[in-house]
Amino acid sequence: AWARVKRRLRAELGEDVYASWFARLELETVSAGTARLTVPTRFLKSWIESHYLDRVLGIFRAEAEEIARIEVGVRGTAAPVRPAAPGAAKPSPVSGPLARLHAVGAPTPVAAIAPVAEARSAEAGDLSGTPLDARLTFASFVVGRSNNLAHAAAERVSRHQGEGALYNPLYLHAGVGLGKTHLLHGIGHAARESGRRVIYLTADRFMYGFVNALKTQSALAYKERLRGIDLLILDDVQFIQGKSIQAEFGHTINALIDAGRQVVVASDRPPTELEALDERVRSRLAGGLVVEIGTLDEQLRVSILSARLAAVRVAHPTFEVTPQVATYVARAITANGRDLEGAVNRLLAHATLTGTAVTMETAENAIRDLVKNREPKRIKIEDIQKLVASRYNVSRSDILSERRTAAVVKPRQIAMYLSKVLTLRSLPEIGRRFGGRDHTTVLHAVRKIEKQIGEDAVLGDEVELLKRMLQD
Ligand code: ADP
Ligand code: MG
Repeated sequence: AWARVKRRLRAELGEDVYASWFARLELETVSAGTARLTVPTRFLKSWIESHYLDRVLGIFRAEAEEIARIEVGVRGTAAPVRPAAPGAAKPSPVSGPLARLHAVGAPTPVAAIAPVAEARSAEAGDLSGTPLDARLTFASFVVGRSNNLAHAAAERVSRHQGEGALYNPLYLHAGVGLGKTHLLHGIGHAARESGRRVIYLTADRFMYGFVNALKTQSALAYKERLRGIDLLILDDVQFIQGKSIQAEFGHTINALIDAGRQVVVASDRPPTELEALDERVRSRLAGGLVVEIGTLDEQLRVSILSARLAAVRVAHPTFEVTPQVATYVARAITANGRDLEGAVNRLLAHATLTGTAVTMETAENAIRDLVKNREPKRIKIEDIQKLVASRYNVSRSDILSERRTAAVVKPRQIAMYLSKVLTLRSLPEIGRRFGGRDHTTVLHAVRKIEKQIGEDAVLGDEVELLKRMLQD
């Protein structure tokens, strides 16, 4: 029956949509009316949940009417119900209620399924893009050592008038909350003010637009509209997924750049590490100006914080934060601009709710969880190598060596995979730490293990266990 559900998904949503979102969807368990499905990434999970959940449920119910709920999980993370101990029996995917699933008769006619997703598609096909946030302008962006290059490039691109484009594409990358989106919106505002036709799209929006255009056979019109603009801004391109959409993404970027239109892109990683993208697209993205925004130093954090406090005081004139508290907050919250904003909101909420001034003590309480939560354990590559080696009865130097026997290759690849998913190290860096290997070797290992985890549940559990041991 699961195979039938998948076949119907494919038939109803079309080959492209299916390949982009559902090809890697798997049924894990069915119990008490809930079908638990899994996908390999959190992004796929949230995409399916926000756009296709009703549709999937509809199709499921047509095959097995006792299914009342669908749950989507991410493979390789804990399911709500875990076996008591590693190695304990897993709920078998084909026992119990699923047996009944197989017994259900012929599929209900397609028309019986409500086309829930349709209502949203009209709006999604239009090209107004994602709206710009009025607050995110160049004027409200605080420039410091870690972002001055990115800021300067962004300003130049947005104010550029004459022929052709400046740096094409301008590619900004940085970790979460370091101001990428802020700068992109700043570019959008400034370019619009000078009369240029600008579209700002998040990766989701870009993909959604294409998916719908493909569905309604209007892909050509969509593309033409995209290519008719002066400036295309794409945010979070690391999320662009799916073969056909990646190809369209590549075509769109190429067409715009070739036509001398400006393209600006932001991502959480450099173009060389957009592993899902085609090599040619990656090198095109790397072919303009690539700028990294660094972490916020203390001075920049203090400046962002005071700018934010000043902005809040416009609406709340009685809201006072002493310099001492501000310094404490800027020291305590080191991670990113988003958390600094969060801290200001907490302080404000505290002050307005209790009607009291913000003391050091209330500040500490108000932001405690922000401080704590943002300190995930740092996992060292060396620890990964040691743990994996001991688990597979080899030595750490075997893992770093040139040896190619299966007994060493597999733990080595698992250790590389874990290094990629558990640390922020880049592929070349990981390669260096594994006895000076090339980044393509690391990439190969990561892909291979990812694939094997998908196919081999025992290995999946094994790797999951290693992950937990490292994270605890
Ligand atoms: P990213 O897109 O890199 O994840 P954002 O641009 O969304 O980060 O920034 C997160 C928050 O921090 C936003 O509210 C943004 O306005 C603020 N922020 C980040 N950097 C700066 C900066 N240099 N000046 C002012 N605000 C900043
Ligand atoms: Mg962003």
